Amino acid sequence: MGTDVGFDMVPRLSQGIEDRMKWGRFLEVVKQYYVGDGQVEVGPRAIRFKAGEWPSLPIEGQKFLRFSSKITGRTVAETGVEKYIQEVMAMAKTLFGDQIRPWNELYDEFGFYRWIFVNASIKSYELVRTPLEPPCRMDCLMFLKAVSIPELIPISSVTTQGTDRDTNLYEVMPIPGRGRGLVATVDIPKGTRILCEKPLITVKNSTPQSVHRFVAEKLKLLPKDKQREFLSLHNNFPGQYAFAGVVRTNALPCGPGSSIGGIYPTACLINHSCIPNAHNNWNEATQHETIHATRDILVGEEIFISYVIEGSWQTRQQRLRNSFGFQCSCELCSEPPHAIQASDNRRADIQRLDEMIGDPIAMMSSPQKSLAACHDLLQILDKEDAGAVIALLPRLYYDAFQISVAHGDQARASVFAERSYMSRVVCEGEDSPATQRVKSLMQDPTKHSTFNAYSTRWRSAKTARPRNLDAGSFDKWLWRLSA
Ligand SMILES: [Zn+2]
Repeated sequence: MGTDVGFDMVPRLSQGIEDRMKWGRFLEVVKQYYVGDGQVEVGPRAIRFKAGEWPSLPIEGQKFLRFSSKITGRTVAETGVEKYIQEVMAMAKTLFGDQIRPWNELYDEFGFYRWIFVNASIKSYELVRTPLEPPCRMDCLMFLKAVSIPELIPISSVTTQGTDRDTNLYEVMPIPGRGRGLVATVDIPKGTRILCEKPLITVKNSTPQSVHRFVAEKLKLLPKDKQREFLSLHNNFPGQYAFAGVVRTNALPCGPGSSIGGIYPTACLINHSCIPNAHNNWNEATQHETIHATRDILVGEEIFISYVIEGSWQTRQQRLRNSFGFQCSCELCSEPPHAIQASDNRRADIQRLDEMIGDPIAMMSSPQKSLAACHDLLQILDKEDAGAVIALLPRLYYDAFQISVAHGDQARASVFAERSYMSRVVCEGEDSPATQRVKSLMQDPTKHSTFNAYSTRWRSAKTARPRNLDAGSFDKWLWRLSA
């Protein structure tokens, strides 16, 4: 018997340089402190404490979720494991602050992570399993209990509204330095719909005064709990027109370039990153905002979307400051100057190629060049963070589709439409009208208004798609690359 005591790291650390350096400093402090302590063993993959259940700290910080042990009268007397937990937690707190979540079952406090994830993380850095692995029954119990701890779920239940599935994927919680945010409570595979939410209010872009007046009127018509949800949202622009400040800080556009913005109780809590792991989209058919995972998200990772995708580091910082009132310190923006510069160069290339592809004259007179620009753009996107650039893929492939179909090439057009469709499903889901549109073009490219519009020089039947080619040869055919 006995009770579990320990601390969790929430959100978990990223692989970014800032987190890596902090974790390195933390491990140094731990090593220094326990020099000569025979119970503390520094291995190639982890630092292990030979006390209690032998809690350990991985050398790679992004793998770390929990440091804990079962405490019994006997283990305390024999090994002093509780002392180790308290000391290591104090050292971790000085570097990671509120990201360190202490818990003690004795006081009905439970960790953030389910044991199944903790055990998997430990397995990834420890060769030997901890001797006392909690049974599955315990795991379920822990999770249920964890959800009822007000300290770990400080947000009123309204913010986790939606389907049960939504509630299980993330938790809304305070994030050090970023107000509130959404943290994954399970591993979320790429393409998963994390959230689907109806706006509390939609507002047309206008002067602060008229936005404020409009929202005040709208709020009066909402039920009390909805009003509270609106009023609980952060405002980076306090002042005379407070409601306009809330809208400016939180609104998500209802469609690309739309002057209408939606305010949502949960989606508006998702923080920005220049290399996001999720994508937000306004679904015109269902009148909902959807959030989809654009890469696999690990349990404990914060969920991010991008408020500003385009531009260099400097441009993004400026736009985020002016439009949303904060300075970005995401994983990319915390990189050293040379890495930021490299990303800036790639993003400038992306913009240049994007403009080139969009030129209708080139598309008409030299489609080969336009298609090559699409291919070049794809190569650059491959070098940027996959989760961050996948939202650009549907359009890139759609451009390649248009170039092909306008010159009568149904075979390639249907392949490009298929790729556009697949990336759109990841970012927006099957029920998005844009996904459905491109799906029908994939089935019949001749439905597009520009079919054969520029020439028939590339004429091919849809069935002319070559079979039995390896991926490399197929790509050469697809992009019309000379051998
Ligand atoms: Zn950033």
